[in-house]
Amino acid sequence: MASPNSLSIYEDESFTIHTALLFSSPYRMFLQNISLVISRTSGLILKTYSRASASAPDPLPPSDIDLTHLTILPGLVDAHTHIFLHAYSEVSATHQMLHESPVERILRASNHARAALDAGFTTYRDLGTEGMATADISLRDAINRGITPGPRLFIATDPITTSSSYTIANENPTLHVPRLADEADGTSALRAAVRRRLGAGADIIKIYADQESRAGRYPEPSFPGALPMRFPPLWGDVPQHITLFTAEEMAAVVDEAHAAHCPVAAHASSPKAVIRAARAGVDTIEHGQEPSAEAISAMRKAGCIFVPTLSVMEYEVPADVLPRMYAHTYAAWKDGVKIACGGDTGPVPHGQNVRELELLLGAGVPLADVLAAATVRGWEACGGEWCGRRFGVLQEGWAADIVGLEGDVREDASALRRVAFVMKDGEVWKRDGRRVG
Ligand SMILES: [Zn+2]
Repeated sequence: MASPNSLSIYEDESFTIHTALLFSSPYRMFLQNISLVISRTSGLILKTYSRASASAPDPLPPSDIDLTHLTILPGLVDAHTHIFLHAYSEVSATHQMLHESPVERILRASNHARAALDAGFTTYRDLGTEGMATADISLRDAINRGITPGPRLFIATDPITTSSSYTIANENPTLHVPRLADEADGTSALRAAVRRRLGAGADIIKIYADQESRAGRYPEPSFPGALPMRFPPLWGDVPQHITLFTAEEMAAVVDEAHAAHCPVAAHASSPKAVIRAARAGVDTIEHGQEPSAEAISAMRKAGCIFVPTLSVMEYEVPADVLPRMYAHTYAAWKDGVKIACGGDTGPVPHGQNVRELELLLGAGVPLADVLAAATVRGWEACGGEWCGRRFGVLQEGWAADIVGLEGDVREDASALRRVAFVMKDGEVWKRDGRRVG
């Protein structure tokens, strides 16, 4: 087993990458003229050193790589994805889960994985297969075995919910539909559910802290030609979301998962669910889109990471509501809440993951904090040291996940979309703007 303390054993298998402008995610600043010595065997950075000039050594050793013309970032982490979903603008969630074959969904997932690498995303925190049971385990393992290219996956398998709270909407009770969640109620049943997920091979436990309020009473038309409700209720004085778990239930989930060094992600829209989940000790809050100073305060006090998923909000929420969500995200950052970058990618297109960085910038979060949110914070959201591998920082002992952008991102954010070079674990997947491997 390689540990960062024994990296010198890999030096024979090393090569060097030379950079002129490199983002340091822990320091949130750009460093100049850094070279990185990388082990092919371990895929880790063996050491870094600074050069006196911006140019690479001349002549360049044959195995070295000159990236001095690019802006260098650690490999990007999308902290909220669904590898088995494609854009809802193409096919609705219900129709994907009900009508697409497992073969189609798996082949699409393989394409999504390649698109993510092309866009510079070397890690996905994938929060539920949405009807594909534990197929995310097999995809993760296939990527880790080198069978198919893709980002490093940290997977949740099925989310854990209360009984009948997260199901495929349909109007035919005799229809057999894929299950979307591992359902459990009460603390001992929830501990058992966490053990089932861990036993299956999950890297992360995902819970639904809330869900839309009894949507089954006045369902949206679930198939083409279904009639809409003529006299829907006015929702003004009833909660839009209901909290699914009690505080004791959430605490039991967190206790059981943390005992196995496994992080917990909580889907939570309403301030009530955000506050309850944060106090229960979950590691990340997903969405948390309803503006609330109390929710921000609860996240900051608990030290949990906020994943605002602005990309999917841009798709799902009316345009006039979005500015309040952006202001809420900015307020959370301003208050010192840790933010990770996750688009709810899948419902919005894979390969366009960088949209989340653009929206965070648009909300007013400074570039250096956005880049940290998309790198080292993503690692923390995946579990940090519990991951068993360090990524998101370009330092000795961390994974050689490296992205090169054309242009200086400090002056032009559109450089985020000009990904010329991608390396994951010391292996090159894109060079000179073209796919490799
Ligand atoms: Zn999601």
